[in-house]
Amino acid sequence: MISKSSLLAEPASPAHICPFDQACSYLEAAAKELNLNQGLLEILSHPRKVVTVSIPVKLDDGEIQVLAGHRVQHSDVLGPYKGGIRFYPAVTLREVSALAMLMTWKCALLGIPYGGGKGGIAIDPKRYSVGELERISRRYISELIKDIGPSVDIPAPDMGTSAREMAWMMDTYSVNIGHAVPGVVTGKPLSIGGSLGREMATGRGTMIIVREALADRGKSLVGVRVAIQGFGNVGCAAAELLYEAGAKIIAVSTGAGGIFSEVGLDIPALKVYAAENRKSIVGFPQSVAISNADLLTLPCDVLIPAALENQITEENVNQVQAQIVAEAANGPVTLEANLALEARGVIVLPDILANAGGVVVSYLEWVQGLSYVFWDEERVNREMEHLMVQAYRKVIHQSEVRQISLRLAAYTLGVGRVAQALTDRGLYP
Ligand code: GLU
Repeated sequence: MISKSSLLAEPASPAHICPFDQACSYLEAAAKELNLNQGLLEILSHPRKVVTVSIPVKLDDGEIQVLAGHRVQHSDVLGPYKGGIRFYPAVTLREVSALAMLMTWKCALLGIPYGGGKGGIAIDPKRYSVGELERISRRYISELIKDIGPSVDIPAPDMGTSAREMAWMMDTYSVNIGHAVPGVVTGKPLSIGGSLGREMATGRGTMIIVREALADRGKSLVGVRVAIQGFGNVGCAAAELLYEAGAKIIAVSTGAGGIFSEVGLDIPALKVYAAENRKSIVGFPQSVAISNADLLTLPCDVLIPAALENQITEENVNQVQAQIVAEAANGPVTLEANLALEARGVIVLPDILANAGGVVVSYLEWVQGLSYVFWDEERVNREMEHLMVQAYRKVIHQSEVRQISLRLAAYTLGVGRVAQALTDRGLYP
């Protein structure tokens, strides 16, 4: 008996919150605030292209498994589609479509010349060998070969993927095209045209935005109590940089659980501990184990959800005690929870701003590659910081002028810029 093609039916979303509906609600709110006409809203609420491919892969035991791989290209009004590829069990087409839309607003808000895209395969990468992951990555990209390219659509790492997968993808694309094309992906290893500073970029961007938000309130990072959900690429870099700046990281977590320390965790030592214990942090000396749910409701100044979407919901929002929530993950606060936090005066630094550091350095990597001139890390960080602080200032200004939340301010800036470009370009034919 053959299994039913997973192309035929979208698997039911495990969460009751549909990520695409949520993304459309934010878009509608921004469109209303901007008085956007209905036609423009219609265009912006539809992805331009949705591609789902079958990925047959030979497993190490000789069996063949067929996976579904998605790539959603939301908008290329401002430039090539841009966005990561995630390998995560709960990936669905609707989630990828929502994230592609978010990338459009994120790039527009940051003023980088890209549209928005996102890709994903519903797998748990931990259950596959390195060889299997390489075959999956290569076949996925070869199926999408006509849909991507350095001036068409430029993938990057996301949850469950890293520089390693980008190298396989760049190589597959290049071999098929017949020459090396480093600009087809970003977040590559340095050896093939990656950028210094890319690895830490998303976490660094979050640190910068938190630092600015505190500075606006007359505070510095020194001694600020921070809880971080997630100790992957983003959470770990944010923890390290905040720790270096003098913040007290009182809790961090991974999918397997979290740890807490009233006096603050020694983050460099924790990094070493996690590396030695196959990424597990529970059991770290001088810390107590806590659950992911407990982490979100700890008394702290800054809460950084840096893992999954829909973590702060109507159910737990009233227990959140932080004064600032910085969305390092995409969509960790639901629409309703966001409203509740705002009503209580909690500052929510929205994802399209707080986690934009990654795509900003992706852009800088692409620029360096296209110009064949590579910068030192100090320059990369400086250019990124400039773009992040500039976007932060614009969001604050917009929120003050229009008397709206930071999220709505960020969305109106992103959506407004794309809508303007769409209007100027006009509709073909
Ligand atoms: N996956 C990251 C994001 O969601 C980075 C995307 C990119 O660098 O293109 O922003």
